[in-house]
Amino acid sequence: MIDERRLREAGAVLAAESARFASMGWMRGTSGNLSLTLDRDPLRLAVTASGFDKSELAPEHVVLVDGKGDLLPGDTRGLIPSAEAGLHARIAAVTGAGAAVHVHAMAAVEAGFHWPEGVAISDMEMLKGIGHSAHGERVVIPVVQNSQDMVELGDRFEAVYRRPAGGIAEVPAIIVASHGMYAWGEDVAAARRHTEITEWLLRFTVRTRAR
Ligand SMILES: [Zn+2]
Repeated sequence: MIDERRLREAGAVLAAESARFASMGWMRGTSGNLSLTLDRDPLRLAVTASGFDKSELAPEHVVLVDGKGDLLPGDTRGLIPSAEAGLHARIAAVTGAGAAVHVHAMAAVEAGFHWPEGVAISDMEMLKGIGHSAHGERVVIPVVQNSQDMVELGDRFEAVYRRPAGGIAEVPAIIVASHGMYAWGEDVAAARRHTEITEWLLRFTVRTRAR
């Protein structure tokens, strides 16, 4: 069953977020996608539909998908979930995220190009914004190779994702090489914060360390 009201509310939230990230130049063309986790058991996500300019996304341009990222039956509007909805669903399942952001930010693509084994960052005040220490901690933003197969991409994500343990927080972001980045959080505000801070850290790292 599709709860039209909840989907519409989620659509309004995601449309506002899309406009924000598009204004930063991170969702060029129709690239990038966003999700909100609406239900956990079974997993249900509101995901931006494919093919729309994210600077002018409307609340109705959002669809409900299952734990594999597939459109739920009953939606007859002819919208297609983002091609990457499957990875959003995997991130929600593995991390417990309430929201996830995927953008084609140039700094993330550049960082993935320079450091395909992961981008190590330490001694930066902004690390506090993704739950880590400003000093004395080496934080690695993982990089995975790109794939058009969301199951394969999800497996690559799970292989590098480190769950929070022993008082050490997760790294709430990942770079997909030659593609872009994902960031997530307990709610849309946290996902936004993690996206913007990770992009900032990657931009600084590329500017100061890339040769
Ligand atoms: Zn993408």
